[in-house]
Amino acid sequence: MRKNIVAGNWKMNNDLAQTQTLITALKAQEKTSNAEVMVAPTFTNLYSAYETLKGTGIEVVAQNMHFAENGAYTGEISAAMLKSIGIKTVILGHSERRAYFNETDELLAKKVDAALASDMTVIFCFGEELADRKSGNHEQVVEDQIKNALFHLKSWDYKNIVLAYEPVWAIGTGETATPEQAQDMHAHIRKTIADHYGYDTANDVSILYGGSVKPNNAKEIFGKPDVDGGLIGGASLKAEDFFAIVNAF
Ligand code: PGA
Repeated sequence: MRKNIVAGNWKMNNDLAQTQTLITALKAQEKTSNAEVMVAPTFTNLYSAYETLKGTGIEVVAQNMHFAENGAYTGEISAAMLKSIGIKTVILGHSERRAYFNETDELLAKKVDAALASDMTVIFCFGEELADRKSGNHEQVVEDQIKNALFHLKSWDYKNIVLAYEPVWAIGTGETATPEQAQDMHAHIRKTIADHYGYDTANDVSILYGGSVKPNNAKEIFGKPDVDGGLIGGASLKAEDFFAIVNAF
């Protein structure tokens, strides 16, 4: 059975002290839902966050990684390095990585392989741009992103894959997909997986929605049958807001 997951993507926010302040506030929150909770601090704060959140049930995850094991890749971080400090999950393919750092489906396929080879879980992000939605091409765009980066995987690899649908036009804009738009796309994503891998695999994979999820809209979005949680940006930087979303299940 698939899991409900709420993950906070802190992006390039919070220095060491601010990260610890946010973690202290997170620890004071009460979880009343069955959702698994994850937070993704910056690389410089991963280890300290991991240490201070140990035993709380909040998993610390990385925002990115490189596909190579090690070597001459100045400025990059490998799966082995993440694992050596206790990190077991990585976000890959976020639209900001795709847009500002030229991450292509081909590159992401290699990163996914490297993460899975290290027994890590991947939160794989994808989503259409506004122009795709306006032209009615959004389902095809999303389907292609999934096929290009993931369809070389075996069905059993999906036990370590979480999908995150994030329409680019909804990220950080305050404009959320309607619960119906989210459900329609999530159902399409699940059918895309089912057509290739069968319904057992498709029904077990968690599909998160991301893009301006807030305490006041989370319940309605998470209430949709194919929405298994959220990837939260802005609202994950405030402990009360984040936990209001976690508890919206
Ligand atoms: P947002 O970001 O919640 O600020 O829209 C979501 C994301 O980028 O994962």
